[in-house]
Amino acid sequence: MAGRTLTLTDNVYDYLLKYGVREPPILARLREATQQIPDSNMQIGPDQGQFMGLLAKLIGARRCIEVGTFTGYSSLAVALALPADGRIVTCDINAQTTAIARQFWREAGVDARIDLRLQPALTTLQELVAQGGAGSFDFAFIDADKPAYLGYYEKLLELVRTGGLIAVDNTLWDGAVADKKINDASTVALRAFNEHVHGDERVDLSLVPIGDGLTLLRKRG
Ligand code: CA
Repeated sequence: MAGRTLTLTDNVYDYLLKYGVREPPILARLREATQQIPDSNMQIGPDQGQFMGLLAKLIGARRCIEVGTFTGYSSLAVALALPADGRIVTCDINAQTTAIARQFWREAGVDARIDLRLQPALTTLQELVAQGGAGSFDFAFIDADKPAYLGYYEKLLELVRTGGLIAVDNTLWDGAVADKKINDASTVALRAFNEHVHGDERVDLSLVPIGDGLTLLRKRG
């Protein structure tokens, strides 16, 4: 098994969470609140939230963009890792789930760092480009409708600075991307996305097997 990622049994994952994650109580409470609503499995795990916060710190991120807010776990995890003047623009179209997000951002005292745009994400990304935002963002996270991933990626590649990072969620899609018999729209789109970025010389890449697969793309100069 050397050189290959360990299979995470429940027992090993519990150990990882116990000794590898320091989840702030506010994030734990948000996770519990999200369990009560439909699609709660769309929320990222605490290990991934912490990892993304660490990445934001490592690259000294101040300006971030997120496509797919849901109940705000990832934006809160990253917002807590930003300096006081750090900002996140986060895009979603669901007023109900993002109302939960807003409540927890407020409770955590970071709501001033998070700018929620309730309209199709591509519209927001195009607006940011039109407003001169190209090359001005440090960190981006895509976790939304899979068939639109490539479109989000191309806009975000404009918006992120050289050396900036785009993190893309669900790129292993519960293993479906590697199963030729599965060909629903989301699986096909994720497969096409993975093949596209693998051949894209504009970025350095790593597909990290955390959560449901998190692809990290660093914009080259
Ligand atoms: Ca996801």
